[in-house]
Amino acid sequence: MHIAIVGGGIGGLTTALALERTGLKVSLFEQATQLREVGAGLQLSPNAVRLLQRLGLDMPLRSVAVRPTANEQRRWQDNRVLFRTLLGEESERTFGAPHYSIHRWDLQQILFEAIPAGIVHLGHRCLAVQSHADCLKMSQKKCPIFGAFLGHFCPVPKRTIPCMLDCGNAA
Ligand SMILES: Cc1cc2nc3c(=O)[nH]c(=O)nc-3n(C[C@H](O)[C@H](O)[C@H](O)COP(=O)(O)OP(=O)(O)OC[C@H]3O[C@@H](n4cnc5c(N)ncnc54)[C@H](O)[C@@H]3O)c2cc1C
Repeated sequence: MHIAIVGGGIGGLTTALALERTGLKVSLFEQATQLREVGAGLQLSPNAVRLLQRLGLDMPLRSVAVRPTANEQRRWQDNRVLFRTLLGEESERTFGAPHYSIHRWDLQQILFEAIPAGIVHLGHRCLAVQSHADCLKMSQKKCPIFGAFLGHFCPVPKRTIPCMLDCGNAA
């Protein structure tokens, strides 16, 4: 089955990598013509890190992410610690994976670089999804036929899929 994914954010790239690793044929379409530094710092809790490790991203994550030792919430008026959650080694011991702080851009690059060439298509915006026979098809002549569609742009209810994925080049 050939799967179309719309959106090259953290969600789309992770999905593309995970599906590709299972041996499925995947194509990802991102409207931006290039991936740029967008976003802020993210907290990656151990359940998310565990999945990224399974995708073989342990080393690149270690090399750029920060391992905070604890998370503290303090009272504004007197700086009193209201609660403290131990992270660092405590988190790894309890949950089997570290807790990381990482910039979204760093994570996006790690994911992008792990995906084999030819899967991510930049400058492609999904414009419409329409019912179409028993498959998914992009309107451009050379576009492949898809068996499934995942992504940010899916306005049709499940029962109308399979449908046509109408993608145009982003301006
Ligand atoms: C300030 C801030 C702090 C956050 N902190 C955390 C945190 O600590 N931990 C955490 O887990 N989460 C955090 N989040 C949330 C997290 O960043 C988002 O949940 C996550 O990045 C969403 O990823 P996504 O891939 O679903 O969407 P996005 O990152 O929004 O990516 C969507 C992509 O789809 C593309 N796209 C959209 N429409 C189309 C179309 N029609 N055709 C083609 N491409 C299209 C867009 O260009 C974009 O690249 C935070 C968010 C913010 C704003």
